[in-house]
Amino acid sequence: MAHYECKYCDRPAGYMGIPITVGSEQICACGAEWEDAKILVDDDEYYDED
Ligand SMILES: [Zn+2]
Repeated sequence: MAHYECKYCDRPAGYMGIPITVGSEQICACGAEWEDAKILVDDDEYYDED
């Protein structure tokens, strides 16, 4: 499995409602445009979820 997360702040999609919808755009909590910031990451790399 894999999930998207922000390449700038490493927050995963779904965390704190990320990505946030503002008008017609989606942004990360750090302010980056989600379409630009999102990267696909293997879940295997992460085991701690807090
Ligand atoms: Zn971010």
